[in-house]
Amino acid sequence: MKEGIHPNYTEATIKCGCGNVMKVGSTKESMTVETCSKCHPFYTGSQKFQVASSRVEKFKAKYGIKD
Ligand SMILES: [Zn+2]
Repeated sequence: MKEGIHPNYTEATIKCGCGNVMKVGSTKESMTVETCSKCHPFYTGSQKFQVASSRVEKFKAKYGIKD
């Protein structure tokens, strides 16, 4: 790599709203996210996700959208 033309690639700390902290390679030092792989409904299968998906189904039904 040439020096001086690349951004500083460092280890970033990602903090999630659920309290989970991840380390990733990034040009930014730290980031905050609302969902991560630990608490995202897709992985946890929580009720919240099911409610959200049923809203989508209602919306699709209302406007006659088919998958
Ligand atoms: Zn999380």
